[in-house]
Amino acid sequence: MSKIAFIGLGHMGLPMARNLLKAGHDLRVYDLVQAAIDELAAEGAKPARDARDAVSGTQVVITMLPASKHVEGLLLGDGGLLASIAPSSLLLECSTIAPESARKVHAAAKARGIELLDAPVSGGTAGAAAGTLTFMVGGEAAALEKARPVFEAMGKNIFHAGPDGAGQVAKVCNNQLLAVQMIGTAESMALGVANGLDPAILAEIMRQSSGGNWVLERYNPWPGVMPNAPASRDYDGGFMAELMTKDLGLAQETAQHSLSSTPMGALALQLYRLLLKQGKGKKDFSVVQKLFTE
Ligand code: NAD
Repeated sequence: MSKIAFIGLGHMGLPMARNLLKAGHDLRVYDLVQAAIDELAAEGAKPARDARDAVSGTQVVITMLPASKHVEGLLLGDGGLLASIAPSSLLLECSTIAPESARKVHAAAKARGIELLDAPVSGGTAGAAAGTLTFMVGGEAAALEKARPVFEAMGKNIFHAGPDGAGQVAKVCNNQLLAVQMIGTAESMALGVANGLDPAILAEIMRQSSGGNWVLERYNPWPGVMPNAPASRDYDGGFMAELMTKDLGLAQETAQHSLSSTPMGALALQLYRLLLKQGKGKKDFSVVQKLFTE
């Protein structure tokens, strides 16, 4: 079993770290929030005093932080953590960050002889707890093979998306498409109901017809259509609208970089920003339904 450092024990990181403990890995944990460290220490992880203490003596380092600035702030620059990670270690950077930022960290890691993989995840907090996350991995295929047992303790599908930064590109493409599907589904649900249709009947007709999509299969935004969907519990739990807004912003940045035209993604971002202005950022992203009904 590997000696692993896990840094960033938030909504996602904590359950991911717990699954590594369950798989028998020797885990050192660190977060800015002491309570998160204490929770995992009570379950057998070694608490670290700071990030440098966490990586000392480990062969694998995992980071799960909010955004690009946190990842760059922790790893790069004078006194950055990369300088404290042993050369030939594996660094699995699992946060969702800008592909450009990921490439910057890749270059700095290479210069130190550290094998970095950008490995953002899909599957949310439920997938993190169940150990069924999807990892979208960018970097060297050989490094991915070394890291595979570690990923497999936390996830079910592990994809090699391509070279450095490709994992982050795959992640923004997927989430942009998800947002567009969610908004389109919400708009059609509202149109049908406003014209006299029963929402459950409309949802089933569209699900089995050419408009069928993942949102209609698993995550209907109309309250009551799917008892287990966030829409049926006042949009609590699930994937917060503010995180979707962040990911749509990353998609736009990525599009700017490649001069790609992404009008649907741009519109989706504008609609999600409106939701945030209305104070709905902490609700599940299917709360976009309310833009068409309130
Ligand atoms: P979170 O805010 O709950 O957790 C981030 C943790 O990082 C916090 O506990 C924070 O204290 C810690 N942290 C920040 N800077 C640190 C530092 N310098 N040193 C140590 N710890 C530090 O976020 P989350 O929901 O766990 O998401 C983590 C990443 O995963 C984000 O990039 C997010 O976009 C992505 N993601 C989230 C979900 C989800 O459903 N929550 C799904 C897929 C991907």
